Amino acid sequence: MKIISTPLELKEYLKDNNKTVGFVPTMGALHEGHISLIKEARASNELVVVSIFVNPTQFSKNEYLEKYPKKDEADKKLCQLADVDILFFPHADDIYGSDEVSVASPNVRGFVLEGTSRPSHFNGVLTVVMKLLNIVSPTKAYFGKKDAQQLNLITLMVKQMFMSVEIVPVESLRESDGLAMSSRNIYLTSRERQEALKISVSLRIASQMVNRGVLNSSEIIQSMMESLDTLEIFYVEILNRKFELIESVELGNTVILVEVKVGTTRLLDNIWI
Ligand code: AMP
Repeated sequence: MKIISTPLELKEYLKDNNKTVGFVPTMGALHEGHISLIKEARASNELVVVSIFVNPTQFSKNEYLEKYPKKDEADKKLCQLADVDILFFPHADDIYGSDEVSVASPNVRGFVLEGTSRPSHFNGVLTVVMKLLNIVSPTKAYFGKKDAQQLNLITLMVKQMFMSVEIVPVESLRESDGLAMSSRNIYLTSRERQEALKISVSLRIASQMVNRGVLNSSEIIQSMMESLDTLEIFYVEILNRKFELIESVELGNTVILVEVKVGTTRLLDNIWI
């Protein structure tokens, strides 16, 4: 595995290769969820590039960028074990200058759900993803369905900016007790981790209601809210795959999303129905 830290070196290294390139952007502190993206990339590309970059522009001032978990050495080993060809490990100064051009997220879809309480978040996400895709020029780039709004906005950006990469959505990986894997889970105390299980329980309640034929969104949201009881809820929403609110679940075209705060940690999860 080759470790590269500057955009120019990576562009030079990948120049004129006629291989298919699968790209997995991450912020590090890798877990099995990230590895599942890397495995998908490995299975259908000749070269696999993983980036580890904790993107400062997607954190707001009160979000403690510097506290984001860092496990550089463990991450390198995991990438090596996962048969990654190139690990791109840039420094913020190599990615950002000053007085920069940036990508603005769409006025509606970028400012609902996660964007309500973090209004600058998706501008930062889209800007860094645009930069990374331009540096790597991958054939396919892999993103988790767990960050459903992010996946939706990146897919939209690629389409609307006429970019040629294919965005591949990857299923969410969970712990055996149902908690969605996340780099942020290490912030949880054992009591908070127990509380966090209410998130996947609420989604299970939703899917059981749908299986029983209950399709009314407000009814489902009400039951989910009740099961989340003591947690601070940012949102529980039912949307179609275009990320528009729907009054009734449309089978094969629906995402049910939850974001809560457990202790001081924001956790999100969703199911696609
Ligand atoms: P992050 O390092 O949190 O920015 O995540 C990097 C990529 O991994 C994103 O595309 C995430 O959606 C994806 N990801 C994070 N957690 C999971 C998970 N539990 N299962 C599958 N993909 C995930």
